[in-house]
Amino acid sequence: MTEELLLNVLNVSVKYLKALPYMNVGTPETYEKIISSIDTILPEDGESAEVAIDKLIKSTEKGLINSRNSRYFGFVIGGSTPACTAADWLTSIWDQNAQVYNSSPIAAIIEEVISNWILDLLSLPKDAGVGFVTGAQMANFTGLVTARNVVLKQHGWDFDKDGLQGAPVINILCGEFCHGTVLSAIRMMGLGQKNIRIIKSDDQGRIISEDLHEVCDNCNGPIIICAQAGNVNTGAFDPFSEISDIAKKYKAWLHIDGAFGLWARVSPKLEPLVIDIDKADSWTVDAHKWLNVPYDSGIVIIRDKSAHRNLKTTRCSYAGPIDETHRDGSQWVPENSRRARGFVLYAAMRNLGRNGVKSIIENSCDIALLFKELLGQLPHARILNDVVLNQVLCRMVPDSVSDLDKFNKSIVERIQRDGVCWLGTTIWNGKTVLRISISNWCTSKEDVYQSVKSIHNSIEDELKISCQSRNCIK
Ligand SMILES: *Cc1c(COP(=O)(O)O)cnc(C)c1O
Repeated sequence: MTEELLLNVLNVSVKYLKALPYMNVGTPETYEKIISSIDTILPEDGESAEVAIDKLIKSTEKGLINSRNSRYFGFVIGGSTPACTAADWLTSIWDQNAQVYNSSPIAAIIEEVISNWILDLLSLPKDAGVGFVTGAQMANFTGLVTARNVVLKQHGWDFDKDGLQGAPVINILCGEFCHGTVLSAIRMMGLGQKNIRIIKSDDQGRIISEDLHEVCDNCNGPIIICAQAGNVNTGAFDPFSEISDIAKKYKAWLHIDGAFGLWARVSPKLEPLVIDIDKADSWTVDAHKWLNVPYDSGIVIIRDKSAHRNLKTTRCSYAGPIDETHRDGSQWVPENSRRARGFVLYAAMRNLGRNGVKSIIENSCDIALLFKELLGQLPHARILNDVVLNQVLCRMVPDSVSDLDKFNKSIVERIQRDGVCWLGTTIWNGKTVLRISISNWCTSKEDVYQSVKSIHNSIEDELKISCQSRNCIK
């Protein structure tokens, strides 16, 4: 019976959430262990809903990464607040298709309301277009597809009618450290790797605007500039004032990938990092990162609302003509049938309010500074980035160790096995380093103390082992 099934799932959910703070953070079993707990044969005849759900629960038990935990510092994942989790469940219960106004008026109206809230929170142009997509990859894609169409039109080319064959070559300028999803978007759009020009970046991964200026000066034809708010390693921001002046001078489209960094707009303390970011033409931001909504939820914002809305010019016969008075959610995104992602965003922003969003962002940045301070005090530790946001890069450099890359990798593996916290490695300036990202709504100072203790112990243990293997005297 449906009621029993859902109540059982409710119990399992509550049990999971209660146990979460005490579970090993992150660490999954091996592939072999996980696959061996799954029934991999497709049943000929269906099982009951109870059996199917029971099997799902048992099959996933060993493989779940506990990334909602407040001591998960890998990638930039964030958690899911209780309000968001509840709203996400209701979204499945209501099962709305947010394709066009007629397929779910309420999904469309909620999208309209939260579009205004998001533009308000991020202080972006009030009449910009807003689309709700799966994540930053699709937000970057949507922003850049619109950019392509508009800059080609400015050069007398109708992309929708004539496609790319014979079109003017578009110069695409990206920083050295732009995100891989921007490059993927450019390739998927058919613009080609060889038309991407890489702009030099400084030691924090910020675009050097003099180099951008020089490259623009040597460009013929349309230009799209991709800048970044929040480098995935250092958290650094490109210099938007200078970049937007250059974009204006060369009539270039300026796209900002601010998957997590754009949220800095909500904090007066972080304002210096994001001055003039509102002068761009399009922006990407993820809700499933720093707003702490569950996957998947990304947002694309485009200044030229009508160009955004014209993303797709063909309509499905059953959808009818474009509704001029109401919002058709799928006009603003590549997808057609879509989940009503707006419900979760509505609940998230109601629950947090402007101040709640601000405190998640500011708390994460304070936690990053605490990490910097405490890790910096550990023997052999070097903090490698200017901690301006939520990212900390750290490398352990004991004199007694010859292969430091291997040593830092081993430390991270040890930390992950210890399970108090989870962090990963990254390559920065050619070196393997520890990467810590803070974006969970409930991470506290106590989490940092516990994590630093585990990191410290892991370093000591690894030093002992590497010393024993070389028979050195301490
Ligand atoms: C995380 C991230 C992305 C990719 O985001 P998805 O939501 O995984 O598609 C793109 N750009 C930046 C700067 C990011 O931090």
